[in-house]
Amino acid sequence: MKTSFEILFEELNQTYFSGDLPRIGITWNSRLRSSAGRFFPGSRKWIRDYPPRIEVASYLLGETEAEKLVRDTLAHEMIHYWLWHRKRPYGHTPEFHAKLKEVGGPRYNPVPKQRPHKYIYRCPGCSKEFKARRRLKSLACLSCCKQHAGGKFDARFKLYLETEIETSRKPLLETPCLGTSESGKKAT
Ligand SMILES: [Zn+2]
Ligand SMILES: [Zn+2]
Repeated sequence: MKTSFEILFEELNQTYFSGDLPRIGITWNSRLRSSAGRFFPGSRKWIRDYPPRIEVASYLLGETEAEKLVRDTLAHEMIHYWLWHRKRPYGHTPEFHAKLKEVGGPRYNPVPKQRPHKYIYRCPGCSKEFKARRRLKSLACLSCCKQHAGGKFDARFKLYLETEIETSRKPLLETPCLGTSESGKKAT
């Protein structure tokens, strides 16, 4: 049975690469956070021959338009593969970008959502605010404890929960290929 990656690969291969690309291992990576996908070139040395492969970050599945993002990410990585396969420099070269235009890949890939700060704590001593992504157990304000308690934990400065923030699920955007100057803006 063909997996959906294989089907998607074949479809893109036929449409944009004249079916030239040999099959390649494509796997999900659940820890990949720095980019939506990765291409690993293989080795062409006969003595240590190993095939190239592609990884796609599984966080994409949690984004809106997941299907399109997976498709676009795979297409992007397949361009790296296509260049490598043709023994061309396979980074984000002008040739890469020309092909990307043809394939219709996006200029922006979503980066995984950092869990936004959900809780705001405050120190009863100095009123300083502390943001946290998860509930804090028993923490006291460091500067107050230093100043008034010889650096030891003092319950008088125990942080209390002030606000719990509703979090939105909007993905952040980045520009993985075109520099970061326009980071955050939507592609036009
Ligand atoms: Zn790339
Ligand atoms: Zn304090």
